[in-house]
Amino acid sequence: TSKFQNTRKRRPPSSSRPSPKSPSRIPQRSRGFRPNPPPDPSSGVALGGVAGMAHTPNPSRRSWVGPPTPFLTPRPERRELRWAEAGSHSSVRRSGVGACSINGSNDRDREANVQVVLRCRPLSVEEQKANVQSAVSCNDTKREVTVLNSLFKQADKTFTFDTVFGPKSQQRAIYDHAVAPIVDDVLEGYNCTVFAFGQTGTGKTYTMEGEMMQQVGELPTSAGVMPRAVRHIFDILEAQKADYSMKVTFLELYNEEITDLLASEDQSRFLEDRHKRPTLSLMEDGKGGSVIRGLEEIVVYSPGEIYSLLQHGSTRRRTADTALNMQSSRSHSVFSIYIHVKVTTTGNRELIKCGRLNLVDLAGSESIARSGAKEVRAREAGELNKSLLTLGRVITALVEDSVHVPYRDSKLTRLLRESLGGKAKTCIIATVTPSVHCLEETLVTLDYAYRAKSIRNKPEVNQKVCKSVMLKDLYKKMEKMKQGFLQFSSYSYSSHYHIGSH
Ligand code: ADP
Ligand code: MG
Repeated sequence: TSKFQNTRKRRPPSSSRPSPKSPSRIPQRSRGFRPNPPPDPSSGVALGGVAGMAHTPNPSRRSWVGPPTPFLTPRPERRELRWAEAGSHSSVRRSGVGACSINGSNDRDREANVQVVLRCRPLSVEEQKANVQSAVSCNDTKREVTVLNSLFKQADKTFTFDTVFGPKSQQRAIYDHAVAPIVDDVLEGYNCTVFAFGQTGTGKTYTMEGEMMQQVGELPTSAGVMPRAVRHIFDILEAQKADYSMKVTFLELYNEEITDLLASEDQSRFLEDRHKRPTLSLMEDGKGGSVIRGLEEIVVYSPGEIYSLLQHGSTRRRTADTALNMQSSRSHSVFSIYIHVKVTTTGNRELIKCGRLNLVDLAGSESIARSGAKEVRAREAGELNKSLLTLGRVITALVEDSVHVPYRDSKLTRLLRESLGGKAKTCIIATVTPSVHCLEETLVTLDYAYRAKSIRNKPEVNQKVCKSVMLKDLYKKMEKMKQGFLQFSSYSYSSHYHIGSH
């Protein structure tokens, strides 16, 4: 069953139905990731996943019986989508859609390596003024980055990545080449994750967030992956005239504690002191994954709404950092977009594709570079980042094909387990500075990133549910039950229609 089934959503903003309580620009909130309610056969629990995915917009509607509910597509009229008519949008691949697939497997569900791209930032104005030497050379065409150890009379070290973006590369190029294909996959029903990994000050946050003030019109050239992904997702869905619903979460992981960057309560009094912020607990979902209890899932209808939420969340993160006199160097942030797209195939069958995009801005990788005496000192100062260290160990275990992969040793690796050797598609953007003063850290980042290239995931499309078939089958089974053909106790709908987990 889907954990969404217990989320309550208000009626969507609609020009035909003005609601003073929910002006169209105010995102709707819901408490997410709650454990499912106990199965209630009389309410047709099997439909929970489907109705839940359709984001039942009526708060008073607590039972999940009845016909599938409308999607919250932000437009007045419902549009019917037929794939044959859907698209001139060339970037959207459509394999596997069009067949009414319950088990969800298709040709693209093969093993895929984690994609690792390398970005080297330019020297800052201050560094240039101070004549800081550049010790990193990038060859974008050959996809190589070389650390100029020769400056210290040692052999240069060259690493090859899936893509290399030199100091001159623009935000747009990074998005178009490294992230846009991933967003296409999310809309096809895959769960995908983009990690930014690197030493503090190398451009992780710049790459992920960049500038994102712009609510309408063209994005600024410095807009990062997050606002670009949001814009791209809406552009594709609008071009397809798709019926869809979308929600977002934004959390921070600091010192193994999870806080909700979008929590609705007035937490201004907690902002200054991260230690006093309410924390959320991470629980097992019973399917090998984890869920966060009480994390707010906010239903969104437009790119502008998501930009405001991103802005809001990242300001909260920064405020807490400033109070601690550090710059996001020790906290991880995970921004997730959940998208459900309804597809009507020829024959009027309805499928739902469920994709999730995680955009992760990791803590500074310098803490994993420490060793020996430095490590002891760092541990005493409470600087060692358990999640980041475990991430490193998980990567090592996966690369070395170890029997035991220590996912459970940290919250980050529990949360993002499926992105590391699991069913998600993953891209790591490793960031480095060319500064000669950071050579040691740069080598550590390159080493980690290079090793992560050999992690193999098994991407799996989230199962598409064919509602008409599902309903028909359900009614048939209920009929049979009534007639006593089926033992009630052995009746398990979810075992027939396992809905892709998020
Ligand atoms: P991190 O998040 O890795 O600690 P930031 O993203 O905060 O690093 O970047 C540090 C500084 O460098 C910021 O002032 C940022 O604007 C600048 N910067 C980072 N990458 C680039 C880049 N590719 N082009 C221009 N400026 C950059
Ligand atoms: Mg940062």
